[in-house]
Amino acid sequence: MSESVRPFVVLKFGGTSVATAVRWRTIRDLARQRCEEGLRPVLVCSALAKVSDLLVLLLDAALNGGHKAIVANIEGRHHALAADLGIAVPPEVSDRLGWLSRVAEGVHLLGEVPVRTRAEVLASGELMSTWLGVHALRHWGLAAGRVDARDLLTTIDDPSLPEAVRVLSGSCAVGGGVAPAVVEACAQAGDVVVTQGFIARLSGGEGTALLGRGGSDTSAALLAARLGAVRCEIWTDVPGMFTANPRVFPSARLLRTLDFNEAQELASMGAKVLHPRCIPPLRAAGIELSVHCTPRPELDGTRIHTLVESAPGLKAVSSRSKVTLITMDTLGMWQQPGFLARAFGVFADLGLSIDLVATSETSVTVTLDPGVAALDPSVLDRLLVRLNTFCKATQLGGLVAVSLVGRGIRAILHRLAPVFELFEEQKVHLMSQAANDLNLTVVVDDVHADRLLAQVHGALLAEVDGAAWLGGSWAAVMGAEAAESVAPVDTRVPWWKVRQQDLIEVAQAGSPAYVYDGEQVTLAAQRLKGLATPGAVLYAMKANPHPGLLARIVAEGLGVECVSPAEVAAGRAALDAAGSDAPLLFTPNFAAREEYVAGFEAGAFVTLDNLHPLAEWPEVFAGREVLVRIDPGGGAGHHAHVRTAGARSKFGVSQEQLPELARLCALHNVEVIGLHAHVGSGVRDPHAWERTGHVLASVISEWFESVRIVDLGGGLGVVEKPGQAPLDLDAFDASLAGVQALLPEGCALWLEPGRYLVAEAGVLLARVTQLKSKGPVRYVGVDVGMNSLIRPALYGAWHQIYSLSASSEERELVEVDVVGPICETGDVIGRARRLPSPQEGDVLLIGTAGAYGRAMSSSYNLRSPAREVVLG
Ligand code: PLP
Repeated sequence: MSESVRPFVVLKFGGTSVATAVRWRTIRDLARQRCEEGLRPVLVCSALAKVSDLLVLLLDAALNGGHKAIVANIEGRHHALAADLGIAVPPEVSDRLGWLSRVAEGVHLLGEVPVRTRAEVLASGELMSTWLGVHALRHWGLAAGRVDARDLLTTIDDPSLPEAVRVLSGSCAVGGGVAPAVVEACAQAGDVVVTQGFIARLSGGEGTALLGRGGSDTSAALLAARLGAVRCEIWTDVPGMFTANPRVFPSARLLRTLDFNEAQELASMGAKVLHPRCIPPLRAAGIELSVHCTPRPELDGTRIHTLVESAPGLKAVSSRSKVTLITMDTLGMWQQPGFLARAFGVFADLGLSIDLVATSETSVTVTLDPGVAALDPSVLDRLLVRLNTFCKATQLGGLVAVSLVGRGIRAILHRLAPVFELFEEQKVHLMSQAANDLNLTVVVDDVHADRLLAQVHGALLAEVDGAAWLGGSWAAVMGAEAAESVAPVDTRVPWWKVRQQDLIEVAQAGSPAYVYDGEQVTLAAQRLKGLATPGAVLYAMKANPHPGLLARIVAEGLGVECVSPAEVAAGRAALDAAGSDAPLLFTPNFAAREEYVAGFEAGAFVTLDNLHPLAEWPEVFAGREVLVRIDPGGGAGHHAHVRTAGARSKFGVSQEQLPELARLCALHNVEVIGLHAHVGSGVRDPHAWERTGHVLASVISEWFESVRIVDLGGGLGVVEKPGQAPLDLDAFDASLAGVQALLPEGCALWLEPGRYLVAEAGVLLARVTQLKSKGPVRYVGVDVGMNSLIRPALYGAWHQIYSLSASSEERELVEVDVVGPICETGDVIGRARRLPSPQEGDVLLIGTAGAYGRAMSSSYNLRSPAREVVLG
């Protein structure tokens, strides 16, 4: 070993921390500071933000031959960063990009992705980011050296695990003290060492293993232990761990200190800042872990150490979404030895790790971590088939586990009762209290999770005073300006904030009233028209059929998607008035025969979403061209009622029915010129349409080569709550380009969004009519009822409520339930909202109400729904 080995400090940088030249300058400054402190920094780097996702997509696309656009996208990101860093693209990066292209070609020819190839491809992000990083640091004058992480970490050999788990989600030994070979390799590399997170050598060979999602934190912790580092620093885009997710709850407070047990629990229960697997190596080695913010390096962050004195009590609330619940019922389990061992054995065989468990005499319920199933979606089907051979096993997906974490959590149980009163009518699927008394977890439907988190956090954490372990709130720590630069949240000022006077005048002239800003609709239409990939964008006019808004949208060149003859007539009239030849599409569902006839007569493209019309009324379709709505399975969206795919949804032709569809089309001389799918609404993940694209591409190649239109549906979400990130249109366009590449030459990609075009352009104005207090609850009555806005009652939708009459400087903020005048318990616009103490006559604004608001209203209780006003 070399003689003077300076103590090591490990710094891990995540994807957003290595994605821009500005962040790399921060990394450079941090490395210099650590050197000046007499330390030798080891920088563990992730792939550039989004690159890991693109690599996953690349392999999927390669199977269908659509990989070129994705390689170009990955290449573009690395070239752009090199240019910003002021360096030439390192030859190693160019070589790797070339290799990726060739492998993708190979995968295309082979028609499958061997597990080891997948690992090599997915490792490319880290391999390339570290080449860029080390060249940049040298360019800035640092004596930086790069070490391949596969020469530092090797996974443990566990032949009992399936190969896919060993290769794609490997583990390295924890403990074992300082490793002289690792120390030597890093000491030789330079004053500043750059290496990759997420990858390791596969045990017993030359191959690459991945450490699973979030594996970079684990790499950093393992290396810190092997190097005997003085500290392991995790540099990310938030300044530490908070009492709740600060992007959703800006009142969340910084946790200055935590002990390892609490941090482990919090990380395992969904706080995304740290990966849970990074804690054991550091705890075993007694190395301090700290969390810091790359965009704000001067902030203190969170310190985690065994020596930290930790006060008992609730420390934080967190949630994990996409949790799957498996219930195993069996009468035979009662007093039956070995049932649990047998059941859990099946999970182990499939490499599924169980998370929470609740048992009764006749049933066992467990939850599964979403990550494992994401690796191989078919694994859940195999699990159920095997479990159903000896018990009745069922699966429920899309749930959220809400966890309360802290030492001695049992001591606060009595204070939780009021919080759970809200759940009287909602199902709590599972409750589990850990024996270590560090966490209490409740599994609920996703629509209720935020409400539960808000209640617990508000009641037990937001206003704790004088605790040394608690820092300031997110807003106070970050400051408004910094918060914008850190979170990819929506930072636009809503239009209604600058038109408050106009709105008050409308409300005074008569409330309740929907008010639309026409210009916002035009801008949204222009944003979608500006997408490079779609051949056509159609407005799903069901979202809001107001003729003035429809005219604005059509004027921007959008087509119209309709679901009833009356909509077809309105859509046709709007297109004709604008002299537009953009498409008119009729997508009925369980409609009567004459509606299809009317659709064809209006010159619309007509979509079939069932075989019955074709089998029973062939004369309507004979000799014609149709689109067919396919159910791609799955389904996405903000609520079960808006997920429009999967066996429990009434929409679309299932894939098993395709042979019969093809037969009927051939028999009646019907040509399928388009495929259509719409899987859900309110989606802000730019990649969510890819799966649908893949399914439709494979339906084309297998069944309908004549297809020249692929309509991916609507569902583009908008920001509904402060702190949410808007749909990233550039990423969406890039992801659509990936889908386009899968389609036959000349096939047009269509979209048919509704909400995106009108939701943010509309607000609903209400007047306060009455106030009431009942026990601890303060009610504010308004003249808007569920007959004007049914979304909160129907979907549990959340609409921002804002007072136009008073600000929080003028009146004290109070927590209220805002309710309407309709004779239904569900007539609630918003619960537990903080408003400047409302008074009779105040005007309240209900935000993001332009879509599915007035369109779904009724005259229930013989109350007229809100009127509509369009501002110019
Ligand atoms: N297309 C179809 C077939 C739909 O059912 C819907 C909504 O229900 C849409 C498009 C529009 O969805 P969104 O308003 O979420 O964009």
